[in-house]
Amino acid sequence: MTLPVPVGIARRETEPGRPPTIEIVWSDGLTARYSPRLLRDACPCASCRETRAAPVVRPLLPVLEPRDTLPLAVAGMTPVGQYAYAIEFSDGHTSGIYTLDYLRELAERVTPA
Ligand SMILES: [Zn+2]
Repeated sequence: MTLPVPVGIARRETEPGRPPTIEIVWSDGLTARYSPRLLRDACPCASCRETRAAPVVRPLLPVLEPRDTLPLAVAGMTPVGQYAYAIEFSDGHTSGIYTLDYLRELAERVTPA
């Protein structure tokens, strides 16, 4: 059995003023829309996985970095070989390599389009 692969990747505008979502059409017909926030929160790089695994300590009055107040956007997606995409975010984070398997797994978590 062949695993589904993306046959189309596009940016889709949702509402004015909100960053576009990433739409992936899979070879088995599933269309999934990924919000930049979902992708960023699911970043598989070592440092983000460590951050997620660490106990969350939230200050009572969180100090927002200026970049935290801007809507997060996907700045670019670059194919890595045949099996993955490197995703660049507008907050400057570029170390996440999203394998097709992982993107597919995330697709199950997002609302089907
Ligand atoms: Zn990361």
